Amino acid sequence: RVELIDLSKSYDKQIDVISGINVTIEPGEFFVLVGPSGCGKSTMLRMIAGLEEITSGTLKIGDKVANGLPPNKRELSMVFQNYALYPHLTVQQNIAFGLDVKKVKKPVQQKRAEDVAEMLGLTEFLQRKPRELSGGQRQRVALARAIVSESPICLMDEPLSNLDAKLRAHMRMEIRRIQRTLGITMIYVTHDQVEAMTMGDRIMILHEGKIQQVGKPIDIYNNPANPFVATFIGSPP
Ligand code: ATP
Ligand code: MG
Repeated sequence: RVELIDLSKSYDKQIDVISGINVTIEPGEFFVLVGPSGCGKSTMLRMIAGLEEITSGTLKIGDKVANGLPPNKRELSMVFQNYALYPHLTVQQNIAFGLDVKKVKKPVQQKRAEDVAEMLGLTEFLQRKPRELSGGQRQRVALARAIVSESPICLMDEPLSNLDAKLRAHMRMEIRRIQRTLGITMIYVTHDQVEAMTMGDRIMILHEGKIQQVGKPIDIYNNPANPFVATFIGSPP
């Protein structure tokens, strides 16, 4: 589980871009962070990942306080919006990269990369370079790289934003299927309310760095906490 206790962030010590966030994400949960551009979603995810310093409050991962812990000690994997693949490495090497860093033996690396590639329909692309792939295929490589690490927690920041509508719909299901199968705890960022409503076990709506509402999509739809939420979600008046 991931616990955020009174978590705040200010970049310039004047305004909080994230302020007083309290929420607990349960093991195996698909938790979606949603809100308009600039509301602080990426900042929050980066704080959980350890890529951004926490200004105040406490972050717990498992039972441990994670404030100040380096990213590689947090037992989580992250998929970035731009995929961040290594252009000079093959798909196989990209997928196995984290295992290589962890000094996993080469044959084991290869086996695990192949298994995950199979799951994501990437087997025929293993020897290609990222530039020889379509956007959706690259997206799947980024996803494979996160999954192969077998981290119990996965963070994704708008991973589908560059895909066409059809592929996006397909990838939503694919991500949910894999997350369920492996029992991964997912913290998923999107600005797309449809994506949030269809994917999340629970969703958290952020506006100007503050929580507007946290709950099951259907409950939020039926009982929006305030006019902002109602408008954002498109609840009937
Ligand atoms: P989007 O949907 O556009 O990706 P977001 O919800 O992810 O938006 P953040 O990237 O977390 O938003 O940014 C939240 C606020 O913090 C914004 O006002 C942004 O300008 C500001 N901000 C982000 N990074 C920095 C930084 N390194 N230094 C100063 N301000 C920053
Ligand atoms: Mg962002």
